Amino acid sequence: MGYTEKTLDAIRAKYAHQPEFLQAVTEVFESLEPVITKNEKLYESEAILERITEPDRQIIFRVPWVDDSGKIRVNTGYRVQFNNSIGPYKGGLRLHPSVNLSVIKFLGFEQVFKNSLTGLPIGGGKGGSDFDPKGKSDREVMAFCQSFMTELCKYIGADTDVPAGDIGTGAREIGYMFGQYKRIRGLYEGVLTGKGLSYGGSLARTEATGYGLLYIVDALLKDHGTSLDGKTVVISGAGNVAIYAAEKATALGGKVVTMSDSTGWIYDKDGIDLAAVKEIKEVRRARLTEYKNYRPNSEYHEGRGVWGVKCDVALPCATQNELLIDDAKELVKNGAIAVCEGANMPTTIEATKYLQENGVLFIPGKAANAGGVATSALEMSQNSERLSWTFEEVDSKLHGIMTNIYANIAGASEEFGMKGNYVAGANIAGFKKVVDAMLAHGAC
Ligand code: NDP
Repeated sequence: MGYTEKTLDAIRAKYAHQPEFLQAVTEVFESLEPVITKNEKLYESEAILERITEPDRQIIFRVPWVDDSGKIRVNTGYRVQFNNSIGPYKGGLRLHPSVNLSVIKFLGFEQVFKNSLTGLPIGGGKGGSDFDPKGKSDREVMAFCQSFMTELCKYIGADTDVPAGDIGTGAREIGYMFGQYKRIRGLYEGVLTGKGLSYGGSLARTEATGYGLLYIVDALLKDHGTSLDGKTVVISGAGNVAIYAAEKATALGGKVVTMSDSTGWIYDKDGIDLAAVKEIKEVRRARLTEYKNYRPNSEYHEGRGVWGVKCDVALPCATQNELLIDDAKELVKNGAIAVCEGANMPTTIEATKYLQENGVLFIPGKAANAGGVATSALEMSQNSERLSWTFEEVDSKLHGIMTNIYANIAGASEEFGMKGNYVAGANIAGFKKVVDAMLAHGAC
């Protein structure tokens, strides 16, 4: 049995109770096979695979907070500091009832490779809580965020670990957390990214993940002799990533016809009215059922279903495991040419393979959504310099980073004899840089 297989078996036995983490490790290991085979002796004696899959540190803590009726509520907080070989830990904080250690570990593991791919000096980490901001008052969200940061602030800092937003953690939550960090630690530093513009945030950070996704889609399509102009695009999600992906897709000449949230999805054959979605989701924090009030000719459907709509390009931008094998079959049947992941691991391994085997161009989240963390790293640079760059400056750096990522993953896939397999290309390109640093640092 080879080194990869042996290590995977051991990880599967040890973490059988962490399915999302195992899914992420399996996907990465499968595509790293050619690199590992080439360096098997060295990697095995240096225990590279064992070390890269075991987080540096996992912090789990109680988060007590008082609700509006005066009752004490308790949630669980997490911060997994996965790997800091190439820079301080960096990765978002997810607030959602589905959060557990397996989810945070899978996200932290993926983040290591994604951050490496950006070409910027950032390590990988992730955190969050099973707290659900939905249906809570601003006061309750503040109480939770303050309690969460009261514990978290012991482990983070501008040069050690710099968390950011993710599902459920937007500008409001980052603001409350930053306020509490500053209050307890007495430090005004860039300890979080995704901050408001009045206290150290970066222009274009809000748009970065969605815009970055479309910059890589653009590079991909151009490389294959076409463009987004006149293409039909289906998008899932109606949050930060989905909204700005839809905005840039439209600017590049595409027509976005679907969006979704956790209860249902909308289909607008004339193209989604983004101003309406922004008002519903960003201002009123309401459900997509309301979209019909703005566009009477649109359709609202309960449950899931966007992947059944005929399209050229599909962009999953909601959450993990939302594009399943049957969805992949529908996409292929309907002639989709590209699927690029705005969310983290939205496509199951089975669905990914089916898409690739059937000639659909597929870019995984760790490359396609790296624009968010890349711009967070640009926010860190601005904080260190105590300067703010213009929107155009940040956006043009983001564009450069995304086209570079495309060139790197395409190049790596070709170098290892898997031309056009961007999953392998992303894993290989991200892995090599981190491993070089780990080897240089010795056994640690
Ligand atoms: P948001 O919370 O802003 O939006 C998430 C969207 O997905 C919402 O529309 C939400 O519905 C929907 N959603 C969440 N969970 C589920 C679920 N279990 N089933 C169905 N729909 C669901 O998050 P973001 O847009 O920030 O993040 C989306 C994805 O992108 C995540 O995978 C995240 O990790 C990833 N990502 C985000 C980055 C960023 O910069 N924000 C950077 C890189 C990756 P509802 O409106 O009902 O809540």
